[in-house]
Amino acid sequence: MATIAANLQAVRRSIAQAASLAHRQASDVTLLAVSKTFPTDAIRSAFQAGQRAFGESYVQEALEKMSALRDLPLEWHFIGPLQSNKTRAVAEHFAWAHSVDRLKIAERLSAQRPAGLPPLNVCIQVNVSHEDTKSGVAPDELSDLAHAVAQLPRLRLRGLMAIPEAVGEFDAQRKPFAQLRSLLQTLNAEGMDLDTLSMGMSQDLGAAIMEGATLVRVGSAIFGTRPQFRNGPQN
Ligand SMILES: *Cc1c(COP(=O)(O)O)cnc(C)c1O
Repeated sequence: MATIAANLQAVRRSIAQAASLAHRQASDVTLLAVSKTFPTDAIRSAFQAGQRAFGESYVQEALEKMSALRDLPLEWHFIGPLQSNKTRAVAEHFAWAHSVDRLKIAERLSAQRPAGLPPLNVCIQVNVSHEDTKSGVAPDELSDLAHAVAQLPRLRLRGLMAIPEAVGEFDAQRKPFAQLRSLLQTLNAEGMDLDTLSMGMSQDLGAAIMEGATLVRVGSAIFGTRPQFRNGPQN
């Protein structure tokens, strides 16, 4: 578990380098540690190395980890596909949901968010590069959805999220991130007040930070390779 601390340090260094290249402050980029499929002792190691925000994709797995880790002040982010049968657990147990892509899901999250908790922070997932997934709202439907979600009382719409198709080349990686940034700017020009671009993973965080990412979701670079059968954001 010493490697987790070392990996975290290396990822923080990459974030700082990318921010510097982009003439941005490293402190303007939040690191979300994506702990899906990894055991609670890995999360404890990351916590001891200073990490507070963790991302999970599978509701049942996340609830078990939260229960085992309730002695730690962690901030939990749901980043997996959101179906109707998962909204209640997400509304009750998470601080953030990054993958809202339909009004019906947003309405359920708002209705199910407990009164004793602050509003649920949400990002709208956008399908920016025609990735193989069906997740994410089409760019031309984003504005209507965003304005509707922003009206929901128990949600706080924070920004946009994307999972572009994996490509190797830096300039190719930048394109979908630039598109997401431009979509956010358009919404803000329409009068919204969005501050979050959730984009960039282990393999493309440099390109994402160059294009304005305010939150990068990093799993394997911190915790190691995931078992192949659950190795993707689509599960
Ligand atoms: C798994 C996952 C990540 C982390 O991916 P790595 O390549 O391991 O950094 C980021 N975002 C989402 C939505 C994921 O499902």
